[in-house]
Amino acid sequence: MNKPIDVADLDSGPLYVARKKIYPQSVSGTFRNVKWALMAFCLGVYYLLPFVRWDRGPNAPHQAVLIDFPNRRFYFFFIEIWPQEVYYFTGLLIIAAMALFLMNAVGGRIWCGYLCPQTIWTDLYYAVERLIEGDRRERMKKDARGLDPRRALELAAKHGSWLFIAWWTGGAWVLYFADAPTLVQELATGEAPFLAYLWIGILTFTTYALAGFMREQVCVYMCPWPRIQAALTDEWALNVTYRYDRGEPRCSTKKAGELHAKGEPAGDCIDCNQCVVVCPTGIDIRNGAQLDCIMCGLCIDACDNVMRKVGRPTRLIGYDNDVNIKRRLEGKSEIHRSIRPRTLIYAGVIAIAGAVMLYGLATRSMIGVTALHDRNPLFVRLADGSIRNAHTVHVLNKHNDARAMALEIEGVPNAVLHVVGVDDVAGGKPLIYVGPDQTRELRVLVTVRPGAKLERSMPLAFRVTDAADGHMATATDHFVAW
Ligand code: SF4
Ligand code: SF4
Repeated sequence: MNKPIDVADLDSGPLYVARKKIYPQSVSGTFRNVKWALMAFCLGVYYLLPFVRWDRGPNAPHQAVLIDFPNRRFYFFFIEIWPQEVYYFTGLLIIAAMALFLMNAVGGRIWCGYLCPQTIWTDLYYAVERLIEGDRRERMKKDARGLDPRRALELAAKHGSWLFIAWWTGGAWVLYFADAPTLVQELATGEAPFLAYLWIGILTFTTYALAGFMREQVCVYMCPWPRIQAALTDEWALNVTYRYDRGEPRCSTKKAGELHAKGEPAGDCIDCNQCVVVCPTGIDIRNGAQLDCIMCGLCIDACDNVMRKVGRPTRLIGYDNDVNIKRRLEGKSEIHRSIRPRTLIYAGVIAIAGAVMLYGLATRSMIGVTALHDRNPLFVRLADGSIRNAHTVHVLNKHNDARAMALEIEGVPNAVLHVVGVDDVAGGKPLIYVGPDQTRELRVLVTVRPGAKLERSMPLAFRVTDAADGHMATATDHFVAW
């Protein structure tokens, strides 16, 4: 019989480990420069885009990017999306997901290290922290020393700056939902809607908390992407990797000289720990691939700087994979497979979704019609024997000016169309006036006199024709006879 498990035998270590504060050291180099450039670009776009104007003519907002909830529209430069066209967002989401997968298959967590808002704002907050409190050693010393008036002043300056950035971030967010210059004026004079202040408050709090305090913990504990990414990657993806085939055994330059003199191997890693102290998540990349690594490349810069100082080739840490490390250890040449089935599939889906969306945008109609048959009753027999069906028809005008549209029906012999409350007629067809950027709901009666050859249910098409440019739109419904 198995001995029952005694809980006292189990490891009684704590389930919760307190966070160890990380003091990343500043570093210079190629990847740091790429990160600065991307940070400037992304922040510039985020803060300034609401102020970019785009002339759409009269009766339309002139803001290049605008989410207009009251009028249920999304504007993106020359594109205007109506609520009926939410499938464009589905297309965008598919493209975004595939782009993420493609980046991951080619170069690991490129999104996490360079483009994720959490990384960008945390990086910005670190830059402010360094500017006010100094680099790693100074910050560690100051934290250990405790509070004095000078330190209190520094902390006040740091948190004040962080709060200012957070508030600015929240302020920029709400500008995407209203005319930016007008909303800025309203915010300054206290006349903005309550919701605007509420969202600025929420975004201020989340930015301050996530970038100022939670930092790498968001990536390590909260974000699902590292887990998904780990399941999606394969052996060919290039990740930030310590090239242990070159680095081991680690030893100082002096020791390496002695070992070489004796004909013994010595690695290039001098165990200086520079790759660890610059890491924003506080890990040692030499321990291999880790979920905590956001692949920001800063350890590559740190190690390159060390290698230059000791006169050894750079990229002891670099974008690499285990396949090539093993091949080098076996004396074989490296192979790279950026183009492989999964990257082709991701790129193909991006291309197809992009092409479908572009085609849809290029050929979409600026007018539209939908028809909905009455459910109860499905038909009415009139006193003279005629059969009448009733429909609710919506006529859409996406133009920025009012349009007159002729409505006609097709598919049912001898059917007569009557639009309740519409008296204007052109060429025998009811003329429907629809205001700019509006939808008009109509009550439509279709009547067939006795004697017509009818089936129980027949397709019935409603067609609108724009009187100004002749463009047409059609909706299909049914005529029910019994
Ligand atoms: S290990 Fe290197 S690449 Fe990974 S997070 Fe740390 S510094 Fe960035
Ligand atoms: S920075 Fe380079 S040399 Fe220094 S410990 Fe890291 S891998 Fe080794």
